[in-house]
Amino acid sequence: MTFRPTAAVVDLEAIAANVRRLRPRGTELMAVVKADGYGHGAVPVARTALRAGATWLGVALVEEGIALREAGLDAPVLLLSEVPRGAEKEALEHGLTPTIYTREGLAAIAEASASIGGPARCHVKVDTGMHRVGAALADAPGLCSDAVRRGIEVEGLWTHLAVADEPRHSFTTVQLERFRAALAEVEAVGVRPRYRHAANSAATMTLPEAHFDMVRVGIAMYGLAPSPALASEDLRPAMSLRSRVSMVKRLAAGEEVSYGLRYRLERPSVLATVPLGYADGYARLLSGRGLALIGGRRHPIAGTVTMDQILVDCGDAAVSPGDEVVLFGYQGEEEISAEEIASWYGTIGYEVVCGVSARVPREYRGGP
Ligand SMILES: *Cc1c(COP(=O)(O)O)cnc(C)c1O
Repeated sequence: MTFRPTAAVVDLEAIAANVRRLRPRGTELMAVVKADGYGHGAVPVARTALRAGATWLGVALVEEGIALREAGLDAPVLLLSEVPRGAEKEALEHGLTPTIYTREGLAAIAEASASIGGPARCHVKVDTGMHRVGAALADAPGLCSDAVRRGIEVEGLWTHLAVADEPRHSFTTVQLERFRAALAEVEAVGVRPRYRHAANSAATMTLPEAHFDMVRVGIAMYGLAPSPALASEDLRPAMSLRSRVSMVKRLAAGEEVSYGLRYRLERPSVLATVPLGYADGYARLLSGRGLALIGGRRHPIAGTVTMDQILVDCGDAAVSPGDEVVLFGYQGEEEISAEEIASWYGTIGYEVVCGVSARVPREYRGGP
């Protein structure tokens, strides 16, 4: 049940259109739906992406994979990091595909797979230079042949790129060369992974040589650019953050507003109260920097963003309680994008959409 007029509206048609546009010909597409589908809702996004041509789902956590299974999704799901010790059996019983990059990780998956009597498959991840997680290049062939010896199919070999969102950065070439070398060495010990994959959204959009057998697409599927350099008219942002004016007051020039009285009205102004705040993921750092759309025009956030409410300085505009407020998304001809909000407080669009908190109801348009 929801009474509040604030919602994150998710356009599933946009997700489907983005998937169709992003999947390279002859290549499979993994829809990355970690962090509850970057805040959009993992289950509806996954369902939509699979109907639009995605064949795999990717998540960060075992819990996230189990949630997809409990919603009835039976597509292959890759866990993008090693399974935390103790969760191996649960992960395999739910048919989640583990990533492996350590001996200990391999041993734990092998034991769990033996204990449930099922064959297991895995994807081995190699670290080609990002240095977050992954097997050292020199260890990859040994890890792959050990997996096979322990009865675990190496269905995939993959890596992750550190600077693909900076077009033509030379380190991406270095990483791809290392990845190809690792593939050659793995094949030399007789292991032929069916899925070789390296590309995130940025590499999917700009680097055909990184596509291999599958691309792993997150942010671009949601319609956001991986970086300002990769802004594209072709992507349709799926999420907009909307609310309604809850109270309107006309104040005299010189009045100061919100906590700390940090915003002073320079002229007589219409001040609108909007029931959304930092507890909803509208960052407090946007105090004095943010803008909101009301009546198809941009208006400044007046003063401090509070936990549950913000104030908007509407100047001399005619604004009434109940009027729609768009924090990001379109209103008429005007748009504020999640990427633009990110630029106002030094972050990226990813964090803006992931940050919309669970307190904000999600409303879906155009779903399967
Ligand atoms: C999150 C993630 C992706 C998706 O990245 P985007 O930039 O959102 O496309 C791909 N691969 C791995 C390993 C990830 O963790």
